[in-house]
Amino acid sequence: MLSVEKLNKIYHSGGLLRRGQANHAVKDVSFHIAEGETVAIVGESGSGKSSVARLVMRLLPANSGQIHWRDQEVSQLSEHHLRPLRSHIQMVFQDPFASLNPRMRIWQSVGEGLRVHRPELSRTQRRDEVAEILALCGMDAAILDRYPHQFSGGQRQRIGIARALIVRPKVLVLDEPVSALDVSVQAQILNLLQRLQSEFNLSYLFISHDLSVVRHVADRVLVMFNGNVVEQGSVEGVFSDPKDAYTQKLLAARPVAHPSERR
Ligand code: ADP
Ligand code: MG
Repeated sequence: MLSVEKLNKIYHSGGLLRRGQANHAVKDVSFHIAEGETVAIVGESGSGKSSVARLVMRLLPANSGQIHWRDQEVSQLSEHHLRPLRSHIQMVFQDPFASLNPRMRIWQSVGEGLRVHRPELSRTQRRDEVAEILALCGMDAAILDRYPHQFSGGQRQRIGIARALIVRPKVLVLDEPVSALDVSVQAQILNLLQRLQSEFNLSYLFISHDLSVVRHVADRVLVMFNGNVVEQGSVEGVFSDPKDAYTQKLLAARPVAHPSERR
């Protein structure tokens, strides 16, 4: 459903003259995600996780490397040729509020993707589609005409997920989707994501700095450090027998939040 090969991203600080430092934020990163599979990227802040997400989404140009959405190579496609393919892969952000226009009603925000990908739909049909996807995400049709500020963090994330799903993608890129939420709400959103995954056979690229969350949701995991994938494998394999020194440190430093696990 998604594969990347030897992705590289170099940021240049220092503006136009490029006299500043070059920051090689993503180095030869390769992975693939099968249908219905969840692959997680873990690593501390600054390790390059969000850069990988934005490269994969083609929100950021790569310096080199290949990106396949299903069997289509997209790393060099122009935005014009990319647009019809974008319904294949959608993104969910850490802060759902930031991705929702505060002045748009919920149904308009959630339905935005339909204007591009299913322009044949009437306004009423669009609204119905939104109501349906919101229901699947656990939100009542009564909220259609409300504004984003009227919702709690968990509800906003449900709306953010609905907004990504409205164009019926096969792949979701989730960048720290529960990191801003209270622990009890995190569990509800993770359960929702798992239910939606089996219902639509979705593939997830799940980015998190939280190892207990990753352990809970992922089939396979990539560990990033300083732009490199230093280790990858099944969740059981990597967590029970980490090979790389950085992974060992990351696991050892993990705060154990759950009381039963702490015991
Ligand atoms: P993570 O999501 O793991 O915290 P990021 O991908 O956000 O990591 O950042 C990786 C590195 O790239 C960091 O050193 C960060 O400072 C740098 N970086 C991220 N975005 C930009 C940008 N737009 N311009 C310059 N440097 C950036
Ligand atoms: Mg990040």
